[in-house]
Amino acid sequence: TDTESVWGTLEGDQYPRAAHKPQIGRANATFVILARNHEINDIVQSLAEMEHTFNHQYHYPYVFLNDLPFTAEFKERTSKVVSGKVSYGQIPHDHWHQPPTIDEERARKSREDMVRNDVIYGGSVSYRNMCRFNSGFFFRHELLQQYRYYWRIEPGVNFFCDITEDPFVFLQENNKVYGFTISMYEYESTIPTLWETTKEFIRKHPEYVAKDNALKFISDDRGDSYNMCHFWSNFEIADMDFWRSEAYMKYFEFLDSKGGFYYERWGDAPVHSIGAALFAKKEQIHFFKEIGYRHNPFQHCPQGALHTKGKCWCDERNNFDYER
Ligand code: GDP
Ligand code: MN
Repeated sequence: TDTESVWGTLEGDQYPRAAHKPQIGRANATFVILARNHEINDIVQSLAEMEHTFNHQYHYPYVFLNDLPFTAEFKERTSKVVSGKVSYGQIPHDHWHQPPTIDEERARKSREDMVRNDVIYGGSVSYRNMCRFNSGFFFRHELLQQYRYYWRIEPGVNFFCDITEDPFVFLQENNKVYGFTISMYEYESTIPTLWETTKEFIRKHPEYVAKDNALKFISDDRGDSYNMCHFWSNFEIADMDFWRSEAYMKYFEFLDSKGGFYYERWGDAPVHSIGAALFAKKEQIHFFKEIGYRHNPFQHCPQGALHTKGKCWCDERNNFDYER
């Protein structure tokens, strides 16, 4: 197997570590961390803040995923700083790499155009692999099959406030499927045909569109055009069974068949956001306003009484909520 759980033996070290405690949190949930070995310093910093603000009381597990094998150092240092059990998985080849159905000549031309136009990550194939993986594959990984809810964590992010209510249990008890802290506009040059492709899918499958959906969040003209609004997906607390649903899976397969992850540079943020806005009810999407969070260069800092309640250490005046 290309997957190794360190809830066993790892290069002479016995796991679980003393630090790994039985789970106290009541939800079927895990943290999910996609990372590269060289990001270790930024990863352990994110983990330390997650433990400090939340998980030291709950001991939810962590699943680390990588397209390459994790190094012993990565496993050592990450397993040391968390209170929940840890597992490390390698991503199956076809869930990560550009499919052979993609016309590489056309994809390369598009990358070169984007580089010329200064599109961020426009020349990167690995960034496209990452966006496609996060859009349609992470929740199919064998290490995640046993879990329903997840919290995505990235290297070098901050968690500013004590989290006293379990957000996984909150989603479950309120029948919500997607939680965010920051939303913003996507660069149009990365997704020129994403909305036309989405509309084509919806014409084929109108039955998947939820009643009382959040179309108004993503379109200002009743669906004619996409307004580029999306949830910033480096932070997500969400329900993987929603991504595993027929509606979203068919949507992802349709998008993937059009090749836009490679011929353009479709991000997992607009793809997840459009999926959530169309296939879930508006009331199933949740703004976690009490969770202080930063991913450079933006942050959500809870305001007023919430700032006090959470003992937040962010500057309240630095808050993205009402920025463009
Ligand atoms: P940004 O937040 O859009 O600037 O992109 P990041 O560089 O932070 O990448 C997003 C997430 O995917 C982070 O958790 C990265 O660690 C991870 N990631 C990006 N590219 C790769 C890659 O090639 N391999 C692996 N294993 N993880 C990656
Ligand atoms: Mn990032």
